[in-house]
Amino acid sequence: MAEFIYKKSIPADLTADVLVIGGGPAGLCAAVAAARNGADTLLIEQNGYCGGMATAGLVAPFMTCYDSGGTTMLIRGLFEEVVDRLVAVGGAIHPSQVTSPSSFTSYIKNGHNHVTPFRVESLKRIADEMLIESGVRILYHTTFVDVVTEGERVAQVIVAMKDGLHAITTKMVIDCSGDGDCAAAAGVPYQMGNGAGRIQPATMFFRIGGVDLAKVDADIAANRDNFYRKDGVNYRSLHWWVEKARQAGDWTLDRVSIGLFRGVDEDEWSINTSRIMGVDGTDSASLTRGEIIGREQVEEIFRFLVKYVPGFENARLLQTGATLGIRETRHIAGIRTLTTDDVLACRVPDDAIMIAANAVDVHGRYGPRSNEYITLAPNHCYGVPYGTMAAVNFANLLVAGRCISAESDAAGAIRVMPPCMGLGQAAGTAAAMAAASGADLRELNVAALRDRLREQNVMLDEEFIANNNANPAEVCTAGCM
Ligand SMILES: Cc1cc2nc3c(=O)[nH]c(=O)nc-3n(C[C@H](O)[C@H](O)[C@H](O)COP(=O)(O)OP(=O)(O)OC[C@H]3O[C@@H](n4cnc5c(N)ncnc54)[C@H](O)[C@@H]3O)c2cc1C
Repeated sequence: MAEFIYKKSIPADLTADVLVIGGGPAGLCAAVAAARNGADTLLIEQNGYCGGMATAGLVAPFMTCYDSGGTTMLIRGLFEEVVDRLVAVGGAIHPSQVTSPSSFTSYIKNGHNHVTPFRVESLKRIADEMLIESGVRILYHTTFVDVVTEGERVAQVIVAMKDGLHAITTKMVIDCSGDGDCAAAAGVPYQMGNGAGRIQPATMFFRIGGVDLAKVDADIAANRDNFYRKDGVNYRSLHWWVEKARQAGDWTLDRVSIGLFRGVDEDEWSINTSRIMGVDGTDSASLTRGEIIGREQVEEIFRFLVKYVPGFENARLLQTGATLGIRETRHIAGIRTLTTDDVLACRVPDDAIMIAANAVDVHGRYGPRSNEYITLAPNHCYGVPYGTMAAVNFANLLVAGRCISAESDAAGAIRVMPPCMGLGQAAGTAAAMAAASGADLRELNVAALRDRLREQNVMLDEEFIANNNANPAEVCTAGCM
């Protein structure tokens, strides 16, 4: 590859105690938490709004925040505050009101109890409000480009703003880019996908309006045996409609299942069905190919819905995602790694900074038709250790969100938005504490962090954990998507 040396003096006019890179679900909560815990906090985001996959990617609903039995809300803290604020303005339906299987869960039962449908536009506003109220300085239209390191510290972060490059001098950095862009540039080791060339596929989400909910529900009720397996529990993701279209030559995609998630309004649905294999979310050329194929697939899927799904006859295509949905890229090496065994054995270590019960949900790793979906037994959970966020070879760098230090399958569980928001809150709180004390993030007093998180409504209740993980040997049931 030809190389070109580019040398230029750029303004070093920005400083922060805590710099948060990326304003997705993790970054939003990281920035709010850092500021509320006393740090001078700067958030940079390449888009003109926060939310990441939840807004730009049109990904919805927020996956469950409950234990898999649906009795206890496990992910609380800032996630719960976001939900409550959304509900207060009519921008979400509270997860306690949403059960599975139903139109809100694409008629899936396992692992989907108490999801949270929300309105994208309400989330954008509430993110702005929470950041401003907390005192976070926001820079939208600002893209991370590079880092300058000094020994084991990130000293400056280079960003591209509308008027050119700037250097930000910061005490602590939280990389919430989803892809670990900053950690990778700094030289933190990482693994792509499962480390053996397999990575989850991308999806172009889209939203449609004009759906007749009663008609959809009625068709599923009338043809129940064609949609559900004999035990009435597991479910083949509406494959019956797809099969009819395939036989008529109207379905050319290599997919058997579709995902149709009703939103807050009963006629507006989010469609999670396209599947683009082999997209590298850290590579612009690969992303470009994915965006184009994604929109092509959306056209075919939309035509299919209108023709084959009762209730969708008058549907209108409202919008495709402003960005392709990326499920997986880098898993950054931390001082601890969340293993798949940790998740399936329901381990809650002493240094857990959040608990969750989200299923291991790995799409398409072995081809467009493959799906691995493993739920925990009711009333069980696993804990995510603090060290999964602390970059192994830096004193002042955390990662939060889907790119934390986790084996690929374990990441398949915590990658959904409520756990990412829990991770963000923990990272922001930790970074603020370290900025104040000067601590190396790898040696942070995690007991003090856990106390602080509990004070801020994070669910780390020892009694609950002990009672509900009483019998981890029996925890796993294989689901079916
Ligand atoms: C197709 C699909 C379906 C999914 N379904 C669900 C679901 O139903 N429910 C659920 O809860 N979760 C779902 N998820 C998972 C979830 O959406 C993501 O894993 C989650 O949003 C990750 O949060 P994050 O904050 O780590 O990253 P992201 O949401 O990706 O946010 C990263 C943010 O960083 C910004 N950014 C990135 N790079 C830079 C840079 N260099 N400079 C500046 N800013 C940058 C981005 O613009 C973005 O705002 C789905 C994901 C996909 C792709």
